[in-house]
Amino acid sequence: MPPIVGSSDEPRQVEVTPSRKRKQLDEGTGPDKKRATKDSDIDGSAVIKTSESNDEREEKITEKDPLELGFGHDDESDEDEDEDDDEDDDEDEDRYDKDEIDENDESLEEDFEDGSDDYDDFAEWPWLKSITIRIKADNSVDDSPIGFCHAKLINREPIRATFYRDMEEPTHDLSELAFHVFDRWGCLKSKFRDHPVKKGTGIWGAELDESKFLFIEGLKVNEDNQRKGYGRKLFEQAWENAQSIADDCNFAIVLASHINTRVVEEKAESLSPRDRELFYTGLQSAAEDFWRAVGFRRIGSTSYFAYAKDPSHASRSISAADDYRHPLSVQSTSSEDDQMFPYDKAMSQSNDPETLELLKARLLAHPATDNIWLSVDKYGDNIVHAVAGDIKAESLSWLLQLPFSSELQSSRNLKGETPLERLETWLESRRTMRRLGGLTIPMSDEFGSFTQAETICLQLLKGLSNPTPTQLARLAYGCTCGECVGGFLSPRLLFALEDQCETHHYQLNGMLDGSMMRMSGPEWCDWNDHHFCHLDASIKNNFKTNKSLRQGFTNIFGYVAEAIHAKEVPTAINVLQYADGEWPPCTKNYLQRGGTVAAVVLASFDGAMSQDQHLGDGEHQAVYQDDIDKLPKCRNDGEFVFASRQYRALEGLPAFSNAEVETGNTW
Ligand SMILES: [Zn+2]
Repeated sequence: MPPIVGSSDEPRQVEVTPSRKRKQLDEGTGPDKKRATKDSDIDGSAVIKTSESNDEREEKITEKDPLELGFGHDDESDEDEDEDDDEDDDEDEDRYDKDEIDENDESLEEDFEDGSDDYDDFAEWPWLKSITIRIKADNSVDDSPIGFCHAKLINREPIRATFYRDMEEPTHDLSELAFHVFDRWGCLKSKFRDHPVKKGTGIWGAELDESKFLFIEGLKVNEDNQRKGYGRKLFEQAWENAQSIADDCNFAIVLASHINTRVVEEKAESLSPRDRELFYTGLQSAAEDFWRAVGFRRIGSTSYFAYAKDPSHASRSISAADDYRHPLSVQSTSSEDDQMFPYDKAMSQSNDPETLELLKARLLAHPATDNIWLSVDKYGDNIVHAVAGDIKAESLSWLLQLPFSSELQSSRNLKGETPLERLETWLESRRTMRRLGGLTIPMSDEFGSFTQAETICLQLLKGLSNPTPTQLARLAYGCTCGECVGGFLSPRLLFALEDQCETHHYQLNGMLDGSMMRMSGPEWCDWNDHHFCHLDASIKNNFKTNKSLRQGFTNIFGYVAEAIHAKEVPTAINVLQYADGEWPPCTKNYLQRGGTVAAVVLASFDGAMSQDQHLGDGEHQAVYQDDIDKLPKCRNDGEFVFASRQYRALEGLPAFSNAEVETGNTW
């Protein structure tokens, strides 16, 4: 046995891992096993010294490829958890659902079988560096390690525009992290900064959006060597390695969760359901305590914890005891309580009209003072949470007319959500991703609108009794600012489009009349052909010899800017009203020869995307940040692909033109 070297605050439970999915990398199930030379930065071995009493000793920490540890990508072990899961709620489900518990039943020793040092399973993702630390006892009779830490150093910058898609690929754990904690651009989800409950302690904010970070995917010390400080040392060595690779790695993130080993399962099996839940809760809190002892603090109300390099970061001044803790699930005290919650399985599985009849039969039998009306299930959901969550508009409408509906509408479940917020969380998840087997597919760019029933539920919970068509459109398109033009064009997005139109109008004109630059027709075409992507070839050719056509194309940029400025969707009808009385009639000429307004609007979308902070070079924000800050924020901000798809649909255009499909420019 190696000596005890753990610090005094090392908690009992060191067997911790963030993984839900841990039967890793049998031959052929992992990423392509490309033969690749491992990065010299993370190859080789490190020696760390630990002192114990007066005795100074050395422990050898070797770093190995994940394959050796039997870890890596997994394609098969999560089928049981993700099936039929596209309504997956996007945060901290594991406090509700024991399905979340890691499925691993391999012993540590089994994990270490069949290794090879020669693979870099992650070489194909240059924005990611895999770091693996193993720890061995000096006096062990065999060569097997007593603990390991797997981590990934993540550089978000090269993958901002496609963050979800990229993070989905290498491992399931990275995918889960991306979809649960970050938005599609790799920034901390706004609810974890702003929501009164979901922000947790509120210590994490925009700083998590920047810099590289280290994601701890797994950390485990075998049972004989726990409570000796090895867990902490494994993390520290991984962190040190990350720093040596990238000194702008400012955070480490981990999903605090325990490992569901065979031993744990055997213990749990002999317990009653209630004791089993307590047993698992104890393991979970031990795992969380371990990471808190190492210096991590919870991110919002998620199950993820982060560690800040900056010693003056707010997370460093909050004690472990003051860190945010999930509320315990609501435990019923008797079977009578279990019977009370009115929304039972039969209702859940019924359609909306049937549910309404069942609800009436169930609830109207009780006086309004009866507790049944306000009872909650084990997630803290009341009847309005439940009915709205199942998108039953008729039933919801009936419930909201009852005398105590305002109390039901304002009460929060264990996640801190009102019924409206719970519905919005569900809809946001649906808008953003879809589960398919073990895959999580980013869906943001495919989003069309919410269904009619979903929109009505939103309307009811928002208390809009006589919504205008525009208000309904905003609900259907997921607008959160209440100002989206046409329901889908947010003020900030429109500002970017208007800037494109005004700038191009000015420049194209300057090149036409020679005030900016004197050039021939063919030169004008060469110079500006990146604006022509959505035009037919014939009119592009005619531009070279026909100045009136060039002028018509140019003028439309100005008219689109005017329409946008007047808060109108820049459809052809809206835009062309600004061309009334134009002389000479260049715009009319342009349209008659095959030009379109949409070609200009879509070119503006392209330009805005190329200058966007997430999708492009960020020039727009760099120049206009102060102006942008004055505009309301909306969920539809930055959703250029979604907005352009709605625009195309309004104009009766296909989702993508032939030219875009040919060039692969389909976003
Ligand atoms: Zn909006």
